[in-house]
Amino acid sequence: MTLTETLQLKERYLQIEDLRALDYCERRWKEQGCPTERWPLINFLERMLQELKNNGIGYPKVLLLRKKEIQRRTFRPEPREERIGPREPQCPNGEACKECKGQGFHMLPGGSGTLCMACLGTRRKIGVSPALSEGS
Ligand SMILES: [Zn+2]
Repeated sequence: MTLTETLQLKERYLQIEDLRALDYCERRWKEQGCPTERWPLINFLERMLQELKNNGIGYPKVLLLRKKEIQRRTFRPEPREERIGPREPQCPNGEACKECKGQGFHMLPGGSGTLCMACLGTRRKIGVSPALSEGS
């Protein structure tokens, strides 16, 4: 994860001097522990604008833009962790779960259902590592 990714900056739209400034920001961002939360990130960008100005490098306009967008909540920084994708089970065969007969839940005697822990409700057997099926 980089600052460029967090702010979703498109490098091809940036000038050479912008990239130089961003290089500096990337380094400072890592030093600061890679802030991605709204306020720490705003404070970080604010500091970068000051530092870049003081260093005579000049700041990329996009940094100022992003800071304003984050303040106005019109831009949401990418979370550091990978977002949880759609719950597609990692099953190459798509084999129906035998525990729940492909229902994704078990019926309890009381008449209510409980999540099938073997397939976690995905109705397909999980725990089959793709690596295991790649035998040569
Ligand atoms: Zn199941």
